[in-house]
Amino acid sequence: MELLKKVAFLDLLKGMKVTLKTMLKPTVTVHYPFEKVEPRKRFRGIHALKLNPDGSYRCEACYLCAEMCPSNVIDMEMTEGKDGKKELVDFTVDLTRCLFCGLCVEACPRDAIVMTDIYEFSKYSPDKLILHKEDLLELGRYYQRKEREK
Ligand code: SF4
Ligand code: SF4
Repeated sequence: MELLKKVAFLDLLKGMKVTLKTMLKPTVTVHYPFEKVEPRKRFRGIHALKLNPDGSYRCEACYLCAEMCPSNVIDMEMTEGKDGKKELVDFTVDLTRCLFCGLCVEACPRDAIVMTDIYEFSKYSPDKLILHKEDLLELGRYYQRKEREK
């Protein structure tokens, strides 16, 4: 029986049957980067800082997100505003060490820090992967625009 199988190339024919069946199915491969991938709903891309409707910062520099971050990649500088409240001077997220775990988002009591669906952010220099306040606010505007369009 073994000899017959070998002579008749039965195993090869079995394999070819699987190949032929697969060839007739529609392809699922995406030709990235020429075709873009639509991220899943719960995908966690790069961070953003949201603004209030009047354009003021939503973040109150409470430092909770930074405390919660397991990689210690969030940092911020603050000053005392005219009204005596804390005012954000800078806010940085170092993407080179970020785990994209989303704990910072969960910790925020003001819903100020969010994660966008942006997954294309590779850069030639690691310095460019440190996001500052203005970058994060710009990303926040993008995030909030997309939220309104939904
Ligand atoms: S996603 Fe996780 S690792 Fe990245 S900044 Fe937030 S808490 Fe830190
Ligand atoms: S983003 Fe949220 S948790 Fe982080 S400092 Fe601002 S208000 Fe606090």
